[in-house]
Amino acid sequence: MIFDHDFDDYRQRRVLVMGLGSFGGGIGAVKFLVSRGALVTVTDLRPVEKLTDSLAELKETPPDRLVLGHHDKSDFRSADLVVVNPAVKRDCPFLNEAISAGVPTTSEMNLFWKWNRAKVIAVTGSNGKSTTTAMIHSIIEKFLQRQPGRRAWLGGNIGSSLLPLVDQIQPDDLVVLELSSFQLADINRLQASPQVAVVTNFAPNHLDWHVDLDDYRQAKQAILRWQTEQDTAVLNADDADVSQWPVRGRRLEFGLGSTGQNGVFFENRQAVVRLNGGEVRWPLLDWLKLPGRHNVANALAAIAATVSVGADAESVQQGIENYQPLPHRLQFIAEVAGRRFYNDSLATTPESAEVALSAFDAPIVLLAGGYDKHVDLSQMAASIAHHAKAVSLMGQTAVTLREMIEANQSNNCEVSLPQTSFVAAFEWAVEHSAPGDVILLSPGCASYDWFRNFADRGAQFTELVRQYAASQP
Ligand code: ADP
Repeated sequence: MIFDHDFDDYRQRRVLVMGLGSFGGGIGAVKFLVSRGALVTVTDLRPVEKLTDSLAELKETPPDRLVLGHHDKSDFRSADLVVVNPAVKRDCPFLNEAISAGVPTTSEMNLFWKWNRAKVIAVTGSNGKSTTTAMIHSIIEKFLQRQPGRRAWLGGNIGSSLLPLVDQIQPDDLVVLELSSFQLADINRLQASPQVAVVTNFAPNHLDWHVDLDDYRQAKQAILRWQTEQDTAVLNADDADVSQWPVRGRRLEFGLGSTGQNGVFFENRQAVVRLNGGEVRWPLLDWLKLPGRHNVANALAAIAATVSVGADAESVQQGIENYQPLPHRLQFIAEVAGRRFYNDSLATTPESAEVALSAFDAPIVLLAGGYDKHVDLSQMAASIAHHAKAVSLMGQTAVTLREMIEANQSNNCEVSLPQTSFVAAFEWAVEHSAPGDVILLSPGCASYDWFRNFADRGAQFTELVRQYAASQP
């Protein structure tokens, strides 16, 4: 591994943490660095009022200085190390200020990589990362419960930062991480990859951030790039792109439709596990409680990753049976007046809306649309035309989606005009539904235009369902 900074002793080092963020990364870095004796300055473009929650978490480990509402170039030149939030663009002038002054830059994830001593199972992909990561963790927890002294840890883009806990993580423990392409681009600089790397699938996404599709693919491939012969890659055999990615170590596959000699495949409601020349069959659909074929694929990936580190049948069964669905991912909210409401607010890509649409046999009234990330929505529109009985359209992409759905030859779907508010969109959906229908929030687009984030969108949906239930006689 090539470290991005060449000192191990942070005492009295001037460290600039750029971007506190709302998802724990910046906070984790500050906690870790302050506890190691660094002189930490936090700088964030957001003003103090917008950071109160994050700052409250730093009460025990306060930074030395705060520079909020703006960045100061001199902080970037005079630091010994800059910790950069993964979403900061590479051509950011402040970052260039540090780089041209010879100041090393790192990230919360790179710091974790430098100090972590345990084996890492990491997941990336365009869709299904969190579900697969959490399912792997659920199985690994059961597996390590049977092995005294070993613990399972969950982190990365899911949950909170593991960096402040890194000294508690023992070499024999197992760490399960969800890695975004931003985090992978950082780790790539260390020439490091996880011991077990899982790629769920690959579809155009984040093209507002990456230069082009190849840049995005290159970023994702970092999860495999620096593996050794002892490491394992778990790849989606159904995905024409991912299945061609180069592998350096052991190659395991998973597939709903494909089959192979090494990996975990799906036949007759069973997971067929083929490893080291042997084969076992497990009744996966009896264990898995989540709707949708995409979740079967996620479970196959989770089984492949966990059996590769020795997990036994009982741990896999218990891990999958006890798996609690994550909020905002095809999450069942309630049945009201014969309508079943599902919150899939986290479906921020067209592919995830498509998989949600194919997860139900009942008629679907969909709430879709949102912020425009400039990705192609035509497949999603075709899927809506095919699967939904009505669609309530929201946000910047409403007009495009409406045109695309109505242009579809086989369209049976009633399409709303672009809605003016979320409440109006919800009411339209209810009015166009009947008992027995599913009312599904699966926007296929990001939420930034109408909501703070996907969690806010899902919470508002859940609240509207609650009010609708309360209004019933
Ligand atoms: P991610 O972490 O990649 O955003 P999640 O596991 O949080 O993925 O799931 C987000 C949404 O993506 C889900 O609500 C579902 O609609 C969709 N999804 C989940 N798994 C898959 C998959 N394997 N293929 C396609 N879409 C998926």
